[in-house]
Amino acid sequence: FGNIIRLRTNVRAIDELLQSGLEPKAIYEFAGEFGTGKTQLCHQLSVTVQLSQDKGGVGGAAVYLDTEEAFSPSRIVNIAQRFDLDPNEALDNIYVVKVINAADLEDRIKFDVVKLVEQANAKLIVVDSIIALYRAEFKGRERLAERQQRLNYILDWLMRIAKVYNVYVVLTNQVLDVPMGYIEVKRPAGGNVLAHAVTHRLFLRKSKEDVKVMEVLDSPRLPFKASAMFRITDKGIED
Ligand code: ATP
Ligand code: MG
Repeated sequence: FGNIIRLRTNVRAIDELLQSGLEPKAIYEFAGEFGTGKTQLCHQLSVTVQLSQDKGGVGGAAVYLDTEEAFSPSRIVNIAQRFDLDPNEALDNIYVVKVINAADLEDRIKFDVVKLVEQANAKLIVVDSIIALYRAEFKGRERLAERQQRLNYILDWLMRIAKVYNVYVVLTNQVLDVPMGYIEVKRPAGGNVLAHAVTHRLFLRKSKEDVKVMEVLDSPRLPFKASAMFRITDKGIED
């Protein structure tokens, strides 16, 4: 109480937007089109979580639930070097769990993730990405209700783990074109279930040249539409 430790990305603009970094006991969603930096951001947080508190971390390990073969050890090496961590130690402190379908994700979260949080000082749980598996597996309108129910089930687990163990949870999400009057707007996938389950919903998009923008889409505390600019470089995510 009064001593909530924030997990920083160490990108000044993003940490300011998130009001000093990520809070534990909450779920953050980063939604955006391909190439907007969702996976890079997850890699960066998997490294910064390992830093000491005075450097923006919490001295913990990360669990990276990888549903689309997105994890890149070489990116971790680059990011670790930037933050003066031993690259091999940084890699050892990231438990990469490859996930093949929804049932697998459920098992991994209920058993492996809980074990890593309890016994291996895992402080950050990343699901990159949450929706791909469900969209691939539960195809068609007639399976939508079932899909949403299963999605709800696993999000509920994640939130309980976050609260009980005081950990940070980050999900990446895809976007869909949703009609709004005569135009289409891009909105995170996953419908109401995902919208209600996540605490802070951030939207990533491309801006001019190599600049990307992170914008608050929905949050109980962060100001709606507040935004931060960032770039993806060979060192990870930077201002
Ligand atoms: P997707 O929806 O396809 O998963 P994403 O939002 O996860 O996309 P990222 O993988 O985080 O996207 O970002 C990919 C972008 O990062 C690439 O477009 C590339 O411009 C940039 N990038 C990746 N590696 C490097 C690097 N070593 N140096 C500079 N930029 C890089
Ligand atoms: Mg990605």
